[in-house]
Amino acid sequence: MPDHIDTVEFRALLLDRQTELHELSDISAQSRGAVELDQASVGRVSRIDAIQQQSMALASERRREQEQQRIKSALARMDDEEYGYCIACGEAIPEARLRFDPSIATCVSCAK
Ligand SMILES: [Zn+2]
Repeated sequence: MPDHIDTVEFRALLLDRQTELHELSDISAQSRGAVELDQASVGRVSRIDAIQQQSMALASERRREQEQQRIKSALARMDDEEYGYCIACGEAIPEARLRFDPSIATCVSCAK
């Protein structure tokens, strides 16, 4: 673990984010399921609208799932004391970058 990383704090950040993503998924599950209900009662334009909203909701859900995966890997790296090091080159990742996204796995140069 790089000296500049407070594991306790970053683990808490990751777990908080995990909870937040779960909650967002629950909320959006409602709008993802809403289209069928609408179809019987609304016109074509509203239906297209609803379908577009649904596909946007599905896309954000996929992004959330990917982030959940990254958080899981980050927590696993923490257990292996590899957290905070770039998985590609092994350099320590600057704290500011980890603060921006605690689940990040690579340094700036390797992310390109
Ligand atoms: Zn790197």
